[in-house]
Amino acid sequence: MTAKIIDGIAVAAEIRAECRAEVERIRLQHDIVPGLAVILVGSNPASQVYVRNKMRACENVGIRSFRFDYPASVDPESVIDKIEQLNEDPEVHGILVQLPLPPTFDLARILHTISADKDVDGFHLYNVGGLVVGGTVFPPCTPYGVLRLLQHEGIQLEGKNVVVVGASNIVGKPMALMLMQQEATVCICHAKTRDLAQFTILADVLVVAAGHPNLILPQMVRTGAVVIDVGINRLSNGKLVGDVDFVGVAQKASHITPVPGGVGPMTVSMLLVNTVAACERVRQQLLRHNSKSPQLETVAE
Ligand code: NAP
Repeated sequence: MTAKIIDGIAVAAEIRAECRAEVERIRLQHDIVPGLAVILVGSNPASQVYVRNKMRACENVGIRSFRFDYPASVDPESVIDKIEQLNEDPEVHGILVQLPLPPTFDLARILHTISADKDVDGFHLYNVGGLVVGGTVFPPCTPYGVLRLLQHEGIQLEGKNVVVVGASNIVGKPMALMLMQQEATVCICHAKTRDLAQFTILADVLVVAAGHPNLILPQMVRTGAVVIDVGINRLSNGKLVGDVDFVGVAQKASHITPVPGGVGPMTVSMLLVNTVAACERVRQQLLRHNSKSPQLETVAE
């Protein structure tokens, strides 16, 4: 079997075209432009590239973006103050703090300062809790992108054995919860999992987000499995690879995502989706509020 290569660039481009149309509709019908604020602390080169790509993607679909750069030595309280200001700013519908932050920062405090209504990265406790009990406003972008890729390929998840390798708060755990919501039977593996292959071989759908090149070899994959490689690793020769032995596993899988060109472009597209959704949500809340106000006045009279 030779796997179908899932083209994340093409699917991400389709989603961006939908976003562009929705941004235009909101602008024309309601005179509102969705806005995303991006905070970058320090000079991590990878983070700078990610932030630049996110801002470019915003521009490309008509989302207004606001960038705030701080040196790594900044007092975390200044960043907290900025987030609180942005929470109140009506032109800003989404707020993103680029990770990782310098060690002087209390990550949980930063993430929970962002209003849940503007948490377009989906890392606020409210949104994380919503993945467990339902009611998430903004699903975290990378797992959301994986789900959209699976849906785009018409891959049914109900009743399927899904194995997620990696249990981080930003990828593995939310991914597993989102797949459970799709009624898959989900198994989560992590660095302490003994004999990873005994789990991965059972997967109808295997999602890998561990950050180790060649972690998944062909003998660990069931023939016909769908393999989603979230990993991004830079080799010493400068080459970018995922966590899966792409060439070997592609001979056994039914579908596989490449790196680059698989999950990566989807992550940025889902950030745009969440930002447009945040804007539309505020607009609808205002509409409800305004339509209720006269009634309240009547009652008060
Ligand atoms: P992370 O915070 O370092 O978490 C890695 C997870 O993988 C941890 O749960 C860890 O287990 C587990 N793990 C590590 N080695 C393992 C092994 N040998 N076997 C099984 N599990 C193992 O990383 P992350 O932020 O989740 O990111 C994971 C990868 O995805 C990275 O390569 C990152 O660059 C990439 N990524 C890509 C995108 C994208 O848009 N494509 C977005 C985000 C991240 P423990 O919990 O036991 O330590």
